[in-house]
Amino acid sequence: MSRFFNASLSNLTPYTPGEQSKQLQLVKLNTNESPYPPSPLAVQAAVQISSQLNLYSDPTANPLKQGLAQTFEVESTQIFVGNGSDEVLAFCFQAFCQAGSAFPDITYGFYPVFAELYQSPSQIIPLQSDFSIALEDYQKIEATLLIANPNAPTGMALSVKQIQTLLEQNSNRLVIVDEAYVDFGGVSCVSLLRDYDNLLVVGTFSKSRNLAGARLGYAVGSQELIRDLERIKYSFNPYNVNQVTQDMALAALQDRNYFEQCCSNIIQTRQFFCEALAQRNFVCTNSLGNFVFAKHNQVDGKTLYTALRQRNILVRWFDVDTIRQWLRITIGTLEQMQTLLAALDELLPELSQQKGE
Ligand SMILES: *Cc1c(COP(=O)(O)O)cnc(C)c1O
Repeated sequence: MSRFFNASLSNLTPYTPGEQSKQLQLVKLNTNESPYPPSPLAVQAAVQISSQLNLYSDPTANPLKQGLAQTFEVESTQIFVGNGSDEVLAFCFQAFCQAGSAFPDITYGFYPVFAELYQSPSQIIPLQSDFSIALEDYQKIEATLLIANPNAPTGMALSVKQIQTLLEQNSNRLVIVDEAYVDFGGVSCVSLLRDYDNLLVVGTFSKSRNLAGARLGYAVGSQELIRDLERIKYSFNPYNVNQVTQDMALAALQDRNYFEQCCSNIIQTRQFFCEALAQRNFVCTNSLGNFVFAKHNQVDGKTLYTALRQRNILVRWFDVDTIRQWLRITIGTLEQMQTLLAALDELLPELSQQKGE
């Protein structure tokens, strides 16, 4: 740290992204990316716009907002777009979490980082021992509530009805629902916006729209909430979403068939993979994400993570007490999952024996 660094941020612990390696023989199942390329229409849109990049991007992002508004059946003034949903969430912390934020102890790792960065006092609410969220724990919360639904890294989801209860229990508090994984079998709570002005839904093109590297996130909420986010954006970077990304995202949104096909492949592969894990003595949460959260009955989480890493298979292990035995494994192609299963079949007999000695 230089002697010029902001002293009030000297204790900041940054978010640790999953390892990003372009090593070719690597089976990369650690950061919940899609194993499928972007829609061909999105790739075409990127090529078309590239010769006009001497010009600034459209700061209003109106065509893209209109596309999203149509998809969610809301007005385009109810849509905000950002450079990944991480940026959208950062703006939310600046806009809405000054007085405090509250979220579960096991959830998306960026919430506590933003809370620290934006000096939002945070209330961390433990999950139940089965990783479920108990709605009673969220009564009369004196802070802006953040709920990833489905949650990360468990993949477990609240129903729309349960989100509605949260909104009613906290009618004078903003509830931010992060739907990064909703397209893999969950149900969006966007429809609740008609009745609840304390709801803000956040989403991303990084997972179900195969555009993690393009960086596009969005928020859907009341016009007032969206205007607040725009105020932050225009005070920070009016051109936060570059034109290549705007055009690719709109094209990806319009290619509904491709999107549905990719999501349905992931759901099918997840089903196959969960069953295969169960046969190999793993327990899994009921994940509705593009990943599973699994624990072996005999073999330690870190041991397994390390052994897989040595075989060029990357999964995610969290150095956190409550989930130390668990691995989060992204659903890749069927072939990738079969490679992982074959590696497990070699490793598990060896590793379970060591444990028994
Ligand atoms: C991946 C993820 C994000 C971030 O997505 P980007 O749009 O790539 O920044 C946000 N929330 C959750 C819960 C995620 O898993």
